[in-house]
Amino acid sequence: MRGTLKETLAAVERWLLPAACLLCNEPVPVRQNDALVCDLCRLRWRPVPHPVCERCGQPSSRGLECRLCSTWPFGLSRVRSAVWLEDSARDAVHQLKYEGWSRVADSMAEAMRGLEPLTGRVCLVPVPLGARRQRKRGYNQSERIASALHVRTGLDLRTDLLLRVRETQTQTALTPESRHANVMGAFSAFDSSDLDLVLVDDVFTTGATLAAAGAALMESGATRVEAVTFARAVVDLDGS
Ligand SMILES: [Zn+2]
Ligand SMILES: [Zn+2]
Repeated sequence: MRGTLKETLAAVERWLLPAACLLCNEPVPVRQNDALVCDLCRLRWRPVPHPVCERCGQPSSRGLECRLCSTWPFGLSRVRSAVWLEDSARDAVHQLKYEGWSRVADSMAEAMRGLEPLTGRVCLVPVPLGARRQRKRGYNQSERIASALHVRTGLDLRTDLLLRVRETQTQTALTPESRHANVMGAFSAFDSSDLDLVLVDDVFTTGATLAAAGAALMESGATRVEAVTFARAVVDLDGS
């Protein structure tokens, strides 16, 4: 009986969902599990190539000092991202963040499943929004991704450990150095004693936000803090 109800609800939901891929508008065949993003669009997402910097996950030649994470504060030990922030991956981020298509997070989580930090008994910690921004948007996109990862991996989801106490101005126009100053003190963490934590976010740009969140969690007793993001922006470190 319960199974039947569940199937009926699934059928109703399928009927309510758009029949076309959110990113390319092509019809999505039923066999693709009611995905909002078609297989073809997902195949176009370009994985971040290895080798990468052991700490920040930026593609690098081995042996060279990393220019991206050398200025990070103590705390965040490893970050990995699934794909480059470009083309339809950028569209997916936009659909989740601004258009409210929360089930896009399913496709993102699927792309993130194999990232190295998601092993062992780690807990997932979505990067929180400030209270005002969360109220305005009605949801936190990082929490949607973390929750989709939780369903797929069985890892604990902890939304009670980290708080964004200060809204930060949009980071896009800032240099890497001023980004660190911009997010310093933006997070406050509750007792995280003896926990192995993995922060979850949609996009990695310079890592300043993740590094600040990681530092706050380490100060609250976490054993280790790592992070995973769906996408990674291509950053020009020379500013040219
Ligand atoms: Zn598509
Ligand atoms: Zn690095």
